Amino acid sequence: MSASTAPSHDPNCLFCKIVAGQIPSRKVYEDDEILAFHDIHPWAPVHFLMVPKRHIASMAQVTEADAALLGRMMALAPKLALEQGCNPYPEGGFRIVVNTGLEGGQEIHHLHIHVMGGPRPWLKG
Ligand code: ADP
Repeated sequence: MSASTAPSHDPNCLFCKIVAGQIPSRKVYEDDEILAFHDIHPWAPVHFLMVPKRHIASMAQVTEADAALLGRMMALAPKLALEQGCNPYPEGGFRIVVNTGLEGGQEIHHLHIHVMGGPRPWLKG
């Protein structure tokens, strides 16, 4: 499905409801195309999700028409990670994960980028 034909809002989608403000979230960042918010069950000291506001079910539906949007999300991730408490590269850092499909561990079928990092005392020697 191309960017022009993807539905902008799926009324049954949890993350579309968060984008629409129907379900509350702890916002990290918002512009007209992208929303970032804290994961409700963090796996790391910093763990937030970045979603396109337009409903794209997963990475498997992304086309070249979405390249600029995906590029913006990836370019924004390091800035938001630092703002949220990740330490600077190279000692600091973060992990980016995009679970895709059932076999890829995706539970919520609205494309989202997990950004996880922050101080991890067990790594210090
Ligand atoms: P997994 O649960 O295996 O990580 P996903 O990659 O689909 O699968 O991730 C969905 C993420 O959404 C989970 O990390 C989960 O904690 C998070 N989540 C679920 N509901 C909410 C919510 N209401 N607000 C914020 N994050 C949520």
